[in-house]
Amino acid sequence: MSVAEKVEQEAGRDFIRDIVAADLQAGRHAGVVTRFPPEPNGYLHIGHAKSICLNFGIAEEFGGRCHLRFDDTNPTKEEQEYIDAIQNDVAWLGFSWGKHLYYASDYFERLYEWAELLIRDGKAYVDDQSPEEMRIARGTLTEPGKNSPFRGRTVEENLDLFRRMRAGEFENGARVLRAKIDMASGNINLRDPVLYRILHAHHPRTGTNWKIYPSYDYAHGQSDAIEGITHSICTLEFEDHRPLYDWCIENLPVPSRPRQYEFARLNLTYTVLSKRVLNGLVKGGHVSGWDDPRMPTIAGIRRRGVPAAALRDFVKRIGVAKANSLVDLGVLEFSIREVLNKTALRRMAVLKPLKVVIENYEGPGEELEAINHPDDPAAGTRQIKFGREIYIEQDDFMENPPKKFFRLSPGTEVRLRYAYFVTCKSVIKDAAGNVTELRCTYDPATRGGNAPDGRKVKATIHWVSAEHSVPAEVRLYNPLFTKPEPDVANFAAELNPNSLEVLNGARLEPALIADNSPEAVQFERQGYFTRDKDSAPGKPVFNRTVGLRDTFAKEVAKG
Ligand code: ATP
Ligand code: MG
Repeated sequence: MSVAEKVEQEAGRDFIRDIVAADLQAGRHAGVVTRFPPEPNGYLHIGHAKSICLNFGIAEEFGGRCHLRFDDTNPTKEEQEYIDAIQNDVAWLGFSWGKHLYYASDYFERLYEWAELLIRDGKAYVDDQSPEEMRIARGTLTEPGKNSPFRGRTVEENLDLFRRMRAGEFENGARVLRAKIDMASGNINLRDPVLYRILHAHHPRTGTNWKIYPSYDYAHGQSDAIEGITHSICTLEFEDHRPLYDWCIENLPVPSRPRQYEFARLNLTYTVLSKRVLNGLVKGGHVSGWDDPRMPTIAGIRRRGVPAAALRDFVKRIGVAKANSLVDLGVLEFSIREVLNKTALRRMAVLKPLKVVIENYEGPGEELEAINHPDDPAAGTRQIKFGREIYIEQDDFMENPPKKFFRLSPGTEVRLRYAYFVTCKSVIKDAAGNVTELRCTYDPATRGGNAPDGRKVKATIHWVSAEHSVPAEVRLYNPLFTKPEPDVANFAAELNPNSLEVLNGARLEPALIADNSPEAVQFERQGYFTRDKDSAPGKPVFNRTVGLRDTFAKEVAKG
């Protein structure tokens, strides 16, 4: 990113917003109209979130509007399930298209009429070459293409064939309608691009009405023009298509003059952002579905527990630039922590429990006060149950600790969060030599966590009551891929076999069950966690949304 781009980004501005502002100031448009145009061939991913925030964000900031338009021009890959999921995801991200929900298929009739017009003007023709012949005749970056032998057809012949294509007289692939532009153009997109292809398929909205479907390039700009889009914002790979976008607009009697602008797509380390590959992960059974919490889909990210505000924060943080780059996954995690640190209530949960018996603790148990959020007194406090038997984290005990280990070990004293100081007296092991239980004593004078004699302990650890805590399944997630830039062609070989770690014996403080909340919470000292939809009564399941620290960067550094 250049210095100028960085300055712009910190001001919440970018080159696209500058263009919009300049256009409005110069009076080139009365208001700004943008659109987000997904193809309903899969679930949206975090790359789409960038595009959504950009398009809807600009409309909001400049007092305009943003349309949601389904680019449903390829019925073989498109499904109603995806249409529904996409609407759900855009709304969840916090944006509203109001009454401006459109489908490219709404314009099929008009697009067809305009195609006949191009034929009548001598600007389009029906080509009978096979796809392979067309590919060869298209030429290369260094070689011009060759005119099709069908390029000289008369208007009447073209109209007749095109109408018969529409009527369904020909097989898939038998003929196409092409724009007649320039087979020698330096831009391959202008070498007589395909405008219509024959496709006998069921369309989710138009059923079997149509036997021919417009290409993306032909449908997109005209749809923009019909809707009065002023700024048609897309990703960089469409830059070379812009001359074709403009050619169509200039050669058709469209009702408005949209312009296309390109920005760099989001690329994230350890992540693949391509619906085709994500579809492969789902269909191949590598993940549990489009909303698997390891997926970079908006549905997966949401299920994992990431709030919409964190995604919006992330998109703002990475900015909008003209050159492609790769964003570190740590940036996303940073945004998630930023938001959750402020909002998530604090709770105690033990992921890998080790039983502790407090030998000198008498009586039925007691309640202690715990705060719900250290920076937000309004979040209040709760009572937690303490007693003779508790669980602590296995990792918080070492029988033979190294020098810098300050947590529990034989003979040492630590603070139990919100409770007492305890000292480890003895260790109980099973036949295999595994530690199964600790015997400790507590100091009744340290209730609440401080010693009246002023003595200090070096560590505070979390715990839950053995009697009152609730068993739970906890799912820990790691990146789906082992390489920072996964090879899209070979993604199955680069899947991380440890992307999901399931802990079956975790123990939660009862407050985590009582409120049944879908909001993320902080398990103290562990990270942010969210109740999963797989939870059943008496069998809670929690997802780790993100750890507390950037352990991921450290793992990577270790190699
Ligand atoms: P995919 O390759 O994942 O299928 P796509 O570009 O084919 O993505 P569309 O449904 O056509 O998917 O995309 C809708 C909009 O989202 C387009 O304007 C596209 O440019 C934008 N978009 C897609 N991927 C990204 C990304 N990684 N970063 C930013 N914008 C993206
Ligand atoms: Mg696409």
